[in-house]
Amino acid sequence: MIKVKLHKIVCPFLAMLMLVGCAQKPHLSTTTSNHQEIGESVHELYYDEHYMMNIDYPKTNIEKLDEEIQASVQELRSQYVNAVQSYQEEDKAELNISFQSYVKNDRYISIKLDVYQSIYDKKEKIVSICYDRENEQIVQLEDIFDKGIIEEIAKQAKTYFETSFPDECGDTTFAIGIVPMPHNYQTFVMRKDALVVYFQEGALFDKSATFEVKYDDIEEFTSMKQEDVATFVPYDDILNEPVKMIDKGKPMVALTFDDGPTRKYTIAILDALKENQASATFFILGSRANNFPEILQRMVLEGNEIGNHTFSHKQLTTLSKENVEEEIANTQESIHNITNKYPEMIRPPYGSKNDMVLQCTQGKKLVTWSLDTQDWKSRNPEVIVNKVLSEVKDGDIILLHDLYDSTAQAAIILIPKLIEEGYQLVTVSQLYEAGKNAPGKIL
Ligand code: ZN
Repeated sequence: MIKVKLHKIVCPFLAMLMLVGCAQKPHLSTTTSNHQEIGESVHELYYDEHYMMNIDYPKTNIEKLDEEIQASVQELRSQYVNAVQSYQEEDKAELNISFQSYVKNDRYISIKLDVYQSIYDKKEKIVSICYDRENEQIVQLEDIFDKGIIEEIAKQAKTYFETSFPDECGDTTFAIGIVPMPHNYQTFVMRKDALVVYFQEGALFDKSATFEVKYDDIEEFTSMKQEDVATFVPYDDILNEPVKMIDKGKPMVALTFDDGPTRKYTIAILDALKENQASATFFILGSRANNFPEILQRMVLEGNEIGNHTFSHKQLTTLSKENVEEEIANTQESIHNITNKYPEMIRPPYGSKNDMVLQCTQGKKLVTWSLDTQDWKSRNPEVIVNKVLSEVKDGDIILLHDLYDSTAQAAIILIPKLIEEGYQLVTVSQLYEAGKNAPGKIL
């Protein structure tokens, strides 16, 4: 982790450092970016009084691959929507799909969908799709590697699990799940440095399991080698942060953007903020942070605040305390690795909170909102702009999502308009420091 490699991902950041005329200080650590986001991500957000869905998947513009991804998502969505009809529990039903994408040797594109739903027995599921750009088809391990690969992976995985978890490998579930049959080894991704095989919840153990193997350790079956992984250099936090003067006596509002970052829309919003010397708060997902380290650094460099919106956007009130802590801590670490700062603000997905969530977030501020634009519902810039302008008041925390073109368009209009109407556009921390406490909305 200490080795600093300057790959092209670092360059825009270095260029920015030079622009603001700061000396580059020695770096303490680096973060690796094994995954990269392919194409554009598509978001579907829905919630009402009965159930909620947060679905995030990539659109790659490779027809066969997109068909496969969309078919998988469609199946998961319709299974869930059907099951919701007869769901009677007190907690709202929830479906959450997030994704990671990986590219190996510029040839194999792997998409991993992490699926979580709260209403059937097995709550978590991993769906993987691997596409071979050279042969233009969806592939399995036997298509990528030489004959005998599944036997080899099974042998190595068995040794690994029996050594690491000796007490949990004695039962028939493990014995059946580890057998070298293709159906046991069909969930995998091709990372730059390793092949990663996933075993579903209940396949080997109660929980899901992961086995990683370096390409060098299966060299009899492939000529692929480990590729260099782009590293990203975090920076000294105090170094570049602009100090903005805020007049505590004048009206102010905090624009907040949730669920990003996304490539196109977050950047369009950052551009509009910069042009108007305004700030906002971005409640980002830990699962997306490593895909866009340069966007996170830009947020901080330009005086915006980054808040924690959990790692995978699950409704925290239905998780165990251990899982809530993990959701929060993993996101804190991901953001810190990139920006050298730990977020002080947490926004729970869907604003859902209870005593357990409050306990897990102690020491940080739990932030909801006072003006809900419902931008995910209208997807219409005019409707969003009119709603904000007709309802806005001093001290408001305004909820938006940097997931949609319509929201970016609305932000481009709203930012100068709010300033024209006399509002300072500040971060949630600044709003809080100024004592503009939207009643009951900041805890
Ligand atoms: Zn959200």
